Amino acid sequence: MSTETITAFAGAFIDGREYRNGGDPLPITNPGTGEVFAEVPGGTADDVDAAVNAAARAQVQWSALAVSKRGEILGAAAHHLEANLDELMPLLTREQGKTLRDSRIELTKAVDTLMHYVGLAKTLRGAHTPGLDPGVDGMVLRRPLGVVGAIVPWNFPTTLLCNKLAPALVAGNTVVAKPAGTTPLTTLRFAELLAEGGLPAGVFNVVTGSGSVTGTALVTHPQVRKIAFTGSTPVGEQIMALAAPGMKRVTLELGGSDPMIICDDADLDAAASAASMGRFYNCGQACLAIKRVYVFDAVADQVIEAITAKAKRLKVGRGDVKGSQMGPLHTAAQRDEVAGQVTRTLEQGGTLLAGGRPPEDAELEGGFFYAPTVVADPSHESPMAVEEVFGPALPIWRVTDLDEAIARANASPFGLGSSVWTRDLGRARQAAERIEAGYTWINSRTKVYDELPFGGWKSSGYGKEHGSEAFDYYTETKSVVFGNG
Ligand code: NAD
Repeated sequence: MSTETITAFAGAFIDGREYRNGGDPLPITNPGTGEVFAEVPGGTADDVDAAVNAAARAQVQWSALAVSKRGEILGAAAHHLEANLDELMPLLTREQGKTLRDSRIELTKAVDTLMHYVGLAKTLRGAHTPGLDPGVDGMVLRRPLGVVGAIVPWNFPTTLLCNKLAPALVAGNTVVAKPAGTTPLTTLRFAELLAEGGLPAGVFNVVTGSGSVTGTALVTHPQVRKIAFTGSTPVGEQIMALAAPGMKRVTLELGGSDPMIICDDADLDAAASAASMGRFYNCGQACLAIKRVYVFDAVADQVIEAITAKAKRLKVGRGDVKGSQMGPLHTAAQRDEVAGQVTRTLEQGGTLLAGGRPPEDAELEGGFFYAPTVVADPSHESPMAVEEVFGPALPIWRVTDLDEAIARANASPFGLGSSVWTRDLGRARQAAERIEAGYTWINSRTKVYDELPFGGWKSSGYGKEHGSEAFDYYTETKSVVFGNG
């Protein structure tokens, strides 16, 4: 272990200040070098209890504020955060592995999401129904849930957190967050900065730690009224079961295997660029990454050649090195899993056109790198077809027409995102109507907008984030009747 291991992090941020967790230390590794550079005490069930109690105390006053005041306070805190993004960027790159450019994109997006809900604060409404009976009116009230537990993974530690934090706080809840055990540092500093920016003590708390100890303690805590979870489908299923006693509310943003359909009338250059960007951005570690491409036979050679050329040109490098376009995978285990999926796929057929192994550059030694990989025509039963591949490896299949493409797209347990490239409005409409997924992009790169509700179908999850719809998942409604008695 490096002699410069940082041990200053206390592991939690509770009630407006640093709090020292009581559990075993978690080693924090730089994915670009493989070196452990920090140690953070993991949270125990007692630490989670302290955080939930602080959040419950704070919720009384926070929910009593005018909603516009909550928006104003969150907005001021978000501005303070924004003024300090330069400090957070290298920390995020160091613990997550992504390039500095991508850290800036992520952190800027996190602030944007906070500000989006600050803007929506004045639009939160209930309903009024006059004349239910003579002299009798109805009202639908909206009330916050109470304490919300937010559990997020390591691929976008701050944006995935803000998707939950922003609507939850504006709606009058308070939050206890648990980041992934491998990416706690940015989130801890993030919480400190929001507090420095004026977010009241206890409104946003963080307890870092493992899923099995800290995560489970948060999900099963009796005072937590809702769990907002982003992560893998198997853990989502566990959380749904753990949350069942007491009918704890859950939203589950889970895995995906997003299909992209490229028709023979598409802008092929734009489609190839979108495929490359969609698959290799963040080293392929995105729930909404393009994970399967189906291209019409007539244009397949051209498209496959263009995507392969882009994959081979990508500059793979450490996140903190200027010019790197794709960083490492987040952990050695993640790299080995992707490598295994590619190897097992090729054993069943298909042609390896790019990558298929770690890059050989000496300066990347020790880091968890894997070369951008393209496989043409693998088996439709292979791991790259039926599993989620959470790394930079793209399978491409030829299809005869749109019907076959849509049938293949839907032949997956997942239903998160999808995209179609065509200049034919009829085809675009058919794809939008028939693909089983929470999002369909038409002739567009797969970018998520705060304005639109986002959430998976099938094994990709339950509930929506983003959009004004997110408020529905952080409030309970109550019907009230004003009689004339
Ligand atoms: P993961 O499910 O292993 O872990 C996610 C979080 O859950 C971590 O903080 C982890 O510590 C915690 N956790 C694990 N077990 C737990 C338990 N029993 N109780 C409570 N918490 C527990 O996911 P991962 O491998 O870290 O992340 C990658 C996955 O996340 C991929 O499947 C990806 O598609 C998915 N993801 C989905 C979205 C989306 O919005 N749909 C976005 C990003 C990532």
